[in-house]
Amino acid sequence: MLSKLIEQGERLALHLEPRRAIALLNAMPSQVYEALQRTRFRQTLRLAAVRSPFYREEFRRRGINVERIRHPSQLGDFYTTGEDLRARFEDFRIGRGDTVFETTGTTSPVPKRVFFSHREIDEMGRASAVALYFLGLRREDTVLSAFDNSFWVSPATARSAFQYIGCFHSEAGKIDPIEFYERARIYRPTVIFGEPSWLMRLSDVAASRGIWPVKFLFGGGENIAETTRQAIEVTWEAPVYLSYGQTEAFGSMGVECVKQQGYHRNDLNFIFEVVESDNTGSGELVYTTLTRDIMPLIRYRSTDLTHLVDEPCECGFFAKRIAKIRSRTDEMVVCGMGNVGPWVFAELLSGVPEAGADWQAIVKHDGRLDVIELHVEMDSFAYQSQVERAVLLHLREKFPDFWKNHEMKLYDFRVVACARESLRTGRKLKRVLDQRQLSLRGVGMVLSG
Ligand SMILES: [Zn+2]
Repeated sequence: MLSKLIEQGERLALHLEPRRAIALLNAMPSQVYEALQRTRFRQTLRLAAVRSPFYREEFRRRGINVERIRHPSQLGDFYTTGEDLRARFEDFRIGRGDTVFETTGTTSPVPKRVFFSHREIDEMGRASAVALYFLGLRREDTVLSAFDNSFWVSPATARSAFQYIGCFHSEAGKIDPIEFYERARIYRPTVIFGEPSWLMRLSDVAASRGIWPVKFLFGGGENIAETTRQAIEVTWEAPVYLSYGQTEAFGSMGVECVKQQGYHRNDLNFIFEVVESDNTGSGELVYTTLTRDIMPLIRYRSTDLTHLVDEPCECGFFAKRIAKIRSRTDEMVVCGMGNVGPWVFAELLSGVPEAGADWQAIVKHDGRLDVIELHVEMDSFAYQSQVERAVLLHLREKFPDFWKNHEMKLYDFRVVACARESLRTGRKLKRVLDQRQLSLRGVGMVLSG
């Protein structure tokens, strides 16, 4: 009875215009959110156990009685992974849904497919609208988005959020920043959405051609180096805010506030846990969806390393936080090139006779752009330019999205020749090395926030 009332209260709050929703949600004590999470979790768990073949079989095999489970952490060593989704997405599905999104280029060429209903899009849209309103987005604003529409979830959730704000909005798609700039200046958008590496390139264009008044820029889809953020902010004389999400989570799980000290998390739609944490409290973020009924995810391993921040934020927003993401547990790297993993580079080098068996991709950041250095063992350093030409040709032929980003100068790519047997120092060679964490200044600062 009480949980019903709370549920109705939250829905009522989110159905209000965003300003009132924030006031009401801010006034709700944390026990109310916890009660709401418990109720929704139990509903999700029962639904999954009865209707999804994947969960039904897994729970039976492990002897899990869902009636006894009150919180995801009571499920012991049960988790769902990207591999489960790839291999058995049909078994996760409870209904047909209304649409599907995909996420590609991870550790395998097979995409993860995630199905959703219009109702679910709506729920996420309302929650996102509250966060965007809190950042200052208003009805009188004009938003131009350069989010990539190709099977990516973010344009859909953003569109749904804008509808609740009532702002003017158009989708440019991820086009060349120069073209975007020239076409955008007719509309003079007050808010610009895009991936961080793309926003950096747009800022280069704006630095030489001039800016117009912008309220803020909003990045999603990849992490940002603080040096890049500052460069964009200086050019536009406006802040850059980031959202954190995954396609599997259906877009945004958290959004930064004006303090830029971690992501205010969406506890209305998720339960977050951090598992297998080290002595600093940092571990893998695991989440359980609370309002999904087409493809609910229970204890889904995000592969992102971070920690949860429960202390209140100076900004005064009710939602607790996820700290900045430190790195990933798998070898996938999200950078200006795109979402790249070892298989991408193996594919780029396949059929290049001068390339030896051992290679390593190193992702760096030069203060403005990501730089991908593909270190390849070869018999003679004289082969370097030959190998680079062949790799770039493969990039263009086999990975049109990565090539497009290269054409847009979102990253630098080079092949570095290495002597034979110089790369492998241990038994296992780490194929993709992300060295940008060193330049992600500000990481860890949230601990004191
Ligand atoms: Zn805050």
